[in-house]
Amino acid sequence: MSGSIAHYDVAYIGQALKNNELSQVTLPASSLTECRGEIGNFTLSYQAEEELDQIQTSNIVINLPHQEELPVEGCLSLTGVGEEFLAEADGDKPLIIIQDYQELSAAALSQRGLKLALQAKSEDPAREVYYFYQAMRFMDNNDELYEEARRQEVIFLKHDLGELEISQDGEIFYSREDIELSLSGELVVAPELKPAAEVDRLARIFNITRGPEGYLQVDNIYLQPTLSGKRGLYVLGGARGPNALTYQQEEREYTLQEIKRNLIGVEELDEEERSVDDQKCVVCYTCYRVCPHGAIQRDEELNSMQIMPLACQSCNLCISRCPMGAITRSGEVEEQPQSDRQVIICENSAALAREKADFDPMAGLEVTEVPCVSTVKKEHIYQRLAGSEGDLLILGCISEACKHLTGHDRCEQVVSSAKSDLEKLDLDPERVNYQRLSPRMAADLSAYLTDWKGEVLQ
Ligand code: SF4
Ligand code: SF4
Repeated sequence: MSGSIAHYDVAYIGQALKNNELSQVTLPASSLTECRGEIGNFTLSYQAEEELDQIQTSNIVINLPHQEELPVEGCLSLTGVGEEFLAEADGDKPLIIIQDYQELSAAALSQRGLKLALQAKSEDPAREVYYFYQAMRFMDNNDELYEEARRQEVIFLKHDLGELEISQDGEIFYSREDIELSLSGELVVAPELKPAAEVDRLARIFNITRGPEGYLQVDNIYLQPTLSGKRGLYVLGGARGPNALTYQQEEREYTLQEIKRNLIGVEELDEEERSVDDQKCVVCYTCYRVCPHGAIQRDEELNSMQIMPLACQSCNLCISRCPMGAITRSGEVEEQPQSDRQVIICENSAALAREKADFDPMAGLEVTEVPCVSTVKKEHIYQRLAGSEGDLLILGCISEACKHLTGHDRCEQVVSSAKSDLEKLDLDPERVNYQRLSPRMAADLSAYLTDWKGEVLQ
């Protein structure tokens, strides 16, 4: 890593936007390896030649081109044809423009198609120009372009799915109501737009979710579309969705304005802060996974999770999902365990066995469900025992059921070491116990708990 870390107003992942007021840096998406921190102070790690390097930035913009897919290999893309295309065209062949072949094209592609049709007519009014479409998409002056194209005798043919086919050699078959047509000529097709190739990896690095089509748009707000769920992270172009092409200019301007506003100062959205009790956190990553705003990261030194106050948007999902009750809001009184019989159970075994039992064998017990008992550390055991007069039972998986392969072994070792510590301190080692179960052992679970409760109550 380099010694001093440069700080920028904005880091672009992909293509930078033009502006003269912001200090900025551009990183290729493929080089990025990690993002830590929050709005105003993100740290990005990236691969620079042979070594890892870092920068700090107040804001991040992901701006990548869409991936384009053409329905027929070798046909021309509407986004790829320039002025030279018509200059070199064979005027004897009809020009065939197709939008919405498999799916509706963005309005910006309609605009390009209409302009291309008009340009072809202006260069050679006698040339046949066909325009196939499912629905004309209007933006800016598309309606005027459309009317003008009709006046110039561009032949518009509407199609629904299945009424238009392009063969592998580029021939067009059209059938709708009483029109049957087969055509060949110079074929220009609006491509299907797909999320940029790196979007999936970036979603993981920034810990934000993707929508059903794979774009990062799921977090976006309709009227402020380049915002992502993570404060200070903006999404444009092929990371944001097909409409990004249509409102490109507006979205760029809006994003730059937002960034400038952030540089004046960002306030916490809620006066109450959420914080993680590092003594209780078992680093199970549940909160990290559920936070819709990428506001949680791991604190390596404390070996606990950490909530970033400027990034947090106060939804409280993390609080409701934390299996250890380790996350609280400021001012909230921490609940102390009431029961003197506490059980920590693995969600892959004892929790499933509990569901299958005829009655709830854990009624009256204080139960904490964890994704894997391997996350339980000795300090958690001591804390549980110190907080009550009672006993603690940990129920892990049998080897075959353990999704984390050796999680059950690690927990057994932790419990056995805790027992020997208790013995050395002249305390009762039987206050903590460990038992293995499979998800199918509902009857054994009931019997075991009945015995355990009996012993505890003696
Ligand atoms: S969910 Fe709770 S225990 Fe799990 S990592 Fe987050 S704070 Fe820690
Ligand atoms: S309350 Fe928790 S889950 Fe919600 S935004 Fe804040 S940190 Fe994320």
